[in-house]
Amino acid sequence: SAKSSGRGTYRLFDVAMHAQLQAHQQMKVAMRDALANREFELHYQPLVNLESRCVSCCEALLRWRHPQRGMIAPSEFIPIAEETGAIVLIGEWLLDEACRQAARWPERVSVAVNLSPVQFKHRNLVGAVANALSSSHLDPARLQLEITETVLLDESEHNLELLQDLRRLGVKIAMDDFGTGYSSLGYLRSFPFDKIKVDQAFVRDLPHGRESLAIVKAVAGLGQSLGMTTTVEGVETEDQLAIVNSEGFDEVQGYLFSRPLPAAEISRLIADGVL
Ligand code: C2E
Ligand code: MG
Ligand code: MG
Ligand code: MG
Repeated sequence: SAKSSGRGTYRLFDVAMHAQLQAHQQMKVAMRDALANREFELHYQPLVNLESRCVSCCEALLRWRHPQRGMIAPSEFIPIAEETGAIVLIGEWLLDEACRQAARWPERVSVAVNLSPVQFKHRNLVGAVANALSSSHLDPARLQLEITETVLLDESEHNLELLQDLRRLGVKIAMDDFGTGYSSLGYLRSFPFDKIKVDQAFVRDLPHGRESLAIVKAVAGLGQSLGMTTTVEGVETEDQLAIVNSEGFDEVQGYLFSRPLPAAEISRLIADGVL
């Protein structure tokens, strides 16, 4: 009957929910030991300066090499690391690791590190960045910290002060995934970002998407008049590159030039110079 099949549906739903909760729980537990077991690694993706065609920066992207499940993408485990607070210790480890790597690269190449909003809730963020810089001897101007709008959304007064403290260390601050939040434009007024990275969502349907094209054009002009370095993420085709280039963007990042690569491979790619 309809009644019993209805109940059956609920039961199926329960089972699926339960499985999902269990997987979530297992990941939480496994994450506790992952740092000590050295299961995290950083891959690096180049940002290419369009004028010189040289790598100007590499973005550090976190990977989890799980002993049973293999490589896990950040979208799968970072939300859980944020929920448990594990992102704070992982974030400190990866700041150290990224700065140590970058100190071996040519001076023209910077390193970009993503910061989670949860790291801003932790008192020691500025100290952790200062430590990573001093123990690696990396020139602070070669460290770029990428934040998303979420950082300015909650506890914005406190977080703005932290951003200013970070800036005083001499590092650069970039706004990541620009255009995807509630009020991207407003945030540009609240803090003088060094760099603005247009989200890949606006590049995906280029060259044909008229709305995306208009937005990309507008952001290029905006960034230029605010004196920010302008970057576009997610460039995969020559057509997309041609548009970004003609709009006067400073840098591009995307599979067209390179996917994120392990540290050893990125060092070789940087040494080769022009991409
Ligand atoms: P994000 O900071 O915006 O990083 C760019 C993402 O776009 C990366 O995904 C990169 O692999 C991907 N990407 C780059 N070029 C292309 C392209 O041409 N096409 C496509 N389809 N994708 C491209 P990934 O590595 O999976 O990272 C996803 C997100 O996870 C990052 O977005 C960032 O928000 C977060 N994340 C990664 N590493 C860290 C980290 O160390 N700390 C924190 N807090 N977040 C991180
Ligand atoms: Mg980023
Ligand atoms: Mg991004
Ligand atoms: Mg993104």
